[in-house]
Amino acid sequence: MKLVTIHGANDVRVDEVAEPSPGPRDVVVRIAACGVCGSDLTFIKMGGAGIPGMASPMPLGHEASGVVTRVGSEVKGIHEGMRVIVNPMGTPHIIGNGGTEGAFADFLLIRDAELDRSVYEVPEGMPLDRAALVEPLSVARHGVNRAGPGADSRCVVFGVGPIGLGAVMWLKRRGVGDIVAVDISEERLERARQLGAAHTLVAGRDDLRAELTRLHGEARSVVGPAVGTDIFFDFAGAPQVVTDIIDLAKQRATLLMVAIHPQPVPVSLEMLVVKELSLVGSCGYPDEYPEVIADLASMDDEADSLISHRLGFDRFHEALETARAGGSGKVMVEFSRT
Ligand SMILES: [Zn+2]
Repeated sequence: MKLVTIHGANDVRVDEVAEPSPGPRDVVVRIAACGVCGSDLTFIKMGGAGIPGMASPMPLGHEASGVVTRVGSEVKGIHEGMRVIVNPMGTPHIIGNGGTEGAFADFLLIRDAELDRSVYEVPEGMPLDRAALVEPLSVARHGVNRAGPGADSRCVVFGVGPIGLGAVMWLKRRGVGDIVAVDISEERLERARQLGAAHTLVAGRDDLRAELTRLHGEARSVVGPAVGTDIFFDFAGAPQVVTDIIDLAKQRATLLMVAIHPQPVPVSLEMLVVKELSLVGSCGYPDEYPEVIADLASMDDEADSLISHRLGFDRFHEALETARAGGSGKVMVEFSRT
């Protein structure tokens, strides 16, 4: 079978490897769809996940759905033919993030498989490509849950790649009406409008202070005029975004951080203190899979519009290029099309 692995910096290959065979507590899943994640691109650039004990070469892919083909004798509750969503964090070897397995593969071994931890059943009627959105949408959902907005919260989402778009979708579903999306890509902003952003701003072109004052009203902070935004979400990962937010924020605004900043970012802790800002981190999805699966089951069009490109596994390198070019929504690798 084929398996995508990282052999070194900017050296990603589709290898021919033996099909996995499950131990008594494992299952094997035939992959149907696996999304390209921003972190996949970062790992390729770095030559791997950079964690201690990383598998080498490092298998890639973690946003996957598929059908169970083999079940170990001691596994309970999972059966052959079951359509499942993979939880890459719910296995002993974090799938596609440095562990020994990756989901850009014809077949994926799930070690110590447990229903509702390492795999979740796909609800009836939900297509498997939509099911592969559960992982990134759970990252977005956890960010929104951590921020805890009310319906009247004025929100700004910086960076509307797939996860930022997911946040726009979940905010809207939570009843938040006043969502502003900010991105450098007009294409992405158009998608954000479709998913519920009331206004969009082009980063680097529009005057953030003037536009946010117009959209969210003028507010005060102890150091002077500020914008009326209640919650700022950082899905962009550009250091300037953090600096801008702390500068613009009103008294007691919240800055919710999901983006990974690999380098330290200089932040005025003085401003954080005097403005009494809340700086909240959000990582992964400790509890969000069940609620995301339940919601997605009833969201045909919105969820499917998150997928901007669908490519067969034989066009894997093209899928990476598409995601790397920017402007895309979720790039989905679909195995049935190869
Ligand atoms: Zn991901």
